[in-house]
Amino acid sequence: MEKVVIMGTGCAGLTAALYTARANLSPLVLTGTMPGGLLTTTSIVENYPGFPDGIDGYELMTRMQKQAERFGARVKFGTVEAVDLNRQPYTLTVDGEAVRTQTLIIASGASHRHLGLESENLLERKGVTYCATCDGALPLFRDQALVVVGGGDSACEEALYLTRFGSVVHLVHRRAALRASKIMAERALSNPKIKPIWDSVVTEILDPKLDKVTGVRLKNLKTGQERILDCAGVFVAIGHIPNTQLFKGILEMDEAGYLIRKGGAGTSLPAVFVAGDCSDRVYRQAVTAAGMGCAAAIEAERYLAKVVEAT
Ligand code: NAP
Repeated sequence: MEKVVIMGTGCAGLTAALYTARANLSPLVLTGTMPGGLLTTTSIVENYPGFPDGIDGYELMTRMQKQAERFGARVKFGTVEAVDLNRQPYTLTVDGEAVRTQTLIIASGASHRHLGLESENLLERKGVTYCATCDGALPLFRDQALVVVGGGDSACEEALYLTRFGSVVHLVHRRAALRASKIMAERALSNPKIKPIWDSVVTEILDPKLDKVTGVRLKNLKTGQERILDCAGVFVAIGHIPNTQLFKGILEMDEAGYLIRKGGAGTSLPAVFVAGDCSDRVYRQAVTAAGMGCAAAIEAERYLAKVVEAT
């Protein structure tokens, strides 16, 4: 029987692991399908305190894992396939095996949102991608026109990164102003290789028949006009969807699927705590996720202390 199981090894999960490990709870930390979380797909992280020159996202997560392991956290590659939260201790099915636990910390993060186009699905990994840092350097994108879709920090970051490889980067946004933070927006818009296309959406990615990306069909939302823009790659950066499908009908969540936090880091069930992007539709920063991971760990520790006291 586990005292603490933590789902997720992003900033929230690994901070919860560090704190529960230091409380001698020997947490079992499950990576899910993306060890290290979304930050491993970013390049340089400039806004995590303590790194005045920035730090590579992958390196930051590796360091967090090492720090948690140093105090006894057990990080295991594994995905939770099902949960039984009907009775305590709770039972999780992890890659076919049952794991029983007294407390659960959900830090399952979020996944990339898709445009929802059929052509997007057909051309995924054939020129359509959700991660410039992972795929930007691929030969098929070198010295080619590229398209980034989105207007937030992610889209700006992706576009800036892609200027290293592409001949031009078209930033397609559905409105006439970026949502991104001022510093990121200014950096993107002042880069001569980045060409914004305002008030426009991608309605189709070409050409599934050729099994590769040759362009996008754009629609201007103000004029209704459509046109084809040639490109060799489409990088979709339009936000995220919380990874909470497993808890539908079990834990309270909002209409977008974000888990609702109760009294700090609690949920609608006792001994189940939550942290990070899966429960945060407002801040979604590495440092806020880490803070929530700390809070969830402290709550779990206090809960266990109370249970031990009572028995
Ligand atoms: P985001 O801030 O939610 O922005 C998503 C963007 O995609 C918005 O501009 C949105 O348009 C657009 N969009 C959403 N659905 C769309 C659709 N179906 N079709 C076309 N466009 C669509 O997401 P994010 O950029 O991934 O950022 C998430 C969080 O991470 C933010 O808090 C951000 O600050 C943080 N972040 C920070 C950094 C950094 O500091 N370096 C880097 C990356 C992310 P509208 O503007 O019209 O809503």
